Amino acid sequence: MKRHKLRIPLWIFGALSLASSPATGAGAQQAGFNRAATTQKVVALTFDADMTPGMLRELKSGKVASWYNENVIAILRKERVPATLFLTGLWIETYPAATRNLSGDPLFELGNHSYSHGGFRLPCYGLSAIGKSSETAEVQKTDALLKKHATAFRKYFRFPGLCSAADNVRNVEAQGYTVIGGDVHGGDGFERNPARIALGVAGHVRPGSIVVLHLHGGPNAPQTANALPKIIGKLRARGYTFVKISDLLKLRAGV
Ligand SMILES: [Zn+2]
Repeated sequence: MKRHKLRIPLWIFGALSLASSPATGAGAQQAGFNRAATTQKVVALTFDADMTPGMLRELKSGKVASWYNENVIAILRKERVPATLFLTGLWIETYPAATRNLSGDPLFELGNHSYSHGGFRLPCYGLSAIGKSSETAEVQKTDALLKKHATAFRKYFRFPGLCSAADNVRNVEAQGYTVIGGDVHGGDGFERNPARIALGVAGHVRPGSIVVLHLHGGPNAPQTANALPKIIGKLRARGYTFVKISDLLKLRAGV
């Protein structure tokens, strides 16, 4: 059954890339800006709003109630923690009002996370392939949606699964975008223990880090909001200040 074939990669994706123990980035394979070289205790929390065609089907069929974890946003606002949010085009089409609302809040900045969340370079944790001919459209369709629904956004692009090769990066950069990765994988995909997420993140953050977490919630990232207060508390206790990607980009890129 086609539907099952499409659903399996999502679980593999979460299991391998996100629910595995939080770890530092994918090393040489990971292009773009992954952290800032600084001794200042600054850290950028980022949240990706994934939406694949399969996730959209789950929403429309009622299997999943929502792919917008509003509690994450509520906690960030309550704690006054700035964050950078990478939105897929399918997510923006599903939540245009939320996109507008988030873009109007100076606490947040929005970036581009492709249109349909496929893999630009395979293998990519079982994500379906973005064909070479669709690569530009994957960036541009979401660019157009951000222009339409957001009051402001940044020309930052994060590859789905952080999977890219040099030619993918060149293509995105040729469109005026800066490629943003991360050096701390939040491990919130499919993880049911919020304490484990928080411990993993806090244990890997260093000055200038970029933390990759998720905004879609639902069964694919069920505990992000429950881990977030712990993450914020632990990092503040260690003297960290939260900043946006635009703040980190003013510092020199680190490895
Ligand atoms: Zn993603």
